[in-house]
Amino acid sequence: MDPKQAHPETVSAQALGWIDERTRAVTPPIHVSSTYLRDTDNQYRSGRIYARADNPAFDQPEAVLCALEEGAQALLFASGMAAATAVFQALAPGDHVLAPKVMYWSLRNWLTTFATGWGLQVELIDMSDPAAVQAAVRPGQTKLVWVETPANPLWTVTDIAATAQIAHAAGALLAVDSTVPTPVLTRPLALGADIVMHAATKYLNGHSDLIAGALVTRRDSEYWQRVRKVRAQLGGTLGSFEAWLLLRGMRTLHLRVRAACASAQRIAEHFAAHARVAEVLYPGLPGCQGHEIAKAQMSGGYGGMLSIRVAANKDGCEAAAIAAAAHVELWKRATSLGGTESLIEHRASVEGAGTPAPPDLLRLSVGIEHVDDLIEDLEQALQHAHA
Ligand SMILES: *Cc1c(COP(=O)(O)O)cnc(C)c1O
Repeated sequence: MDPKQAHPETVSAQALGWIDERTRAVTPPIHVSSTYLRDTDNQYRSGRIYARADNPAFDQPEAVLCALEEGAQALLFASGMAAATAVFQALAPGDHVLAPKVMYWSLRNWLTTFATGWGLQVELIDMSDPAAVQAAVRPGQTKLVWVETPANPLWTVTDIAATAQIAHAAGALLAVDSTVPTPVLTRPLALGADIVMHAATKYLNGHSDLIAGALVTRRDSEYWQRVRKVRAQLGGTLGSFEAWLLLRGMRTLHLRVRAACASAQRIAEHFAAHARVAEVLYPGLPGCQGHEIAKAQMSGGYGGMLSIRVAANKDGCEAAAIAAAAHVELWKRATSLGGTESLIEHRASVEGAGTPAPPDLLRLSVGIEHVDDLIEDLEQALQHAHA
């Protein structure tokens, strides 16, 4: 059986089944060379010249990502932000782009400061409403529509297929930040997206021990070659050791994501009608925004990310949320997501002015611990916050 035709679980568990041809090792070596030998006739038949542009350490992880996302080509980057910003930097000053009001905070911040200063016309809209997207696209002028679904930190769901149609009708590309669902739960390219972006720092690697990013394209194009050039010239290139770690992390992607999804669903249901919780935000709950779209667009679960809005104590709702986060023992009070250990964070404190995160919101990244331990720990933390 050709490993490329196998189920995605098999693709990632075996990293496409490659072996090192010289040594017969079943895991790849770590290539660290910064430069490659030129042939005597002045050619570079290896296809590689210098490791800022290309590195054999990228071949296997990029091929695995292509297979999982059903894409044509993939590029690893030094971080999720390096990957995401390359998508915008391959455009030209003056181009109009649409991005969601509710999205990963650092990227939103970059778009409204640096990218705008560089000349992009950035418009933030309610991306979860196709009518708002339709009203905002400017045919011929809008070059890119950026979607994140489910989106930080409210887990707003956007219909990828519907948004792709609107973007394409206006002559724009659709790029999707798919960090949270991962290819285990959603495959944006199959739904019509042109580019998929991952903060590989999160679920793809899954162990909170490296920073990495990735892009996958549905097809090669002049635009994609500009993205490749942005990586090579701006130098947001991943290190060899990180590429190797990422490949190792991806071998257990399906197990980790499925475990996190199952626990997140249990936690969401447990706290949905809880006296100390005002609201649970999770696309897996029937009452939540976008549940029906998520049901159709995601398969096998609704992701490992949710937020709870803590009910007010005598000092108010923000104080109650911060107090609850202060009293967790198993959950780790830290930013980031997608690791084996569960994380909790008061997002409004991180994002500051202009945040869409309400002051009572705690963002939860559910790991792969026993779900009963996670629920018990949150229960006692909430009890302390309301004591
Ligand atoms: C973390 C994250 C990013 C940025 O990735 P880095 O690796 O931290 O640069 C982008 N989008 C989402 C949804 C993220 O969670």
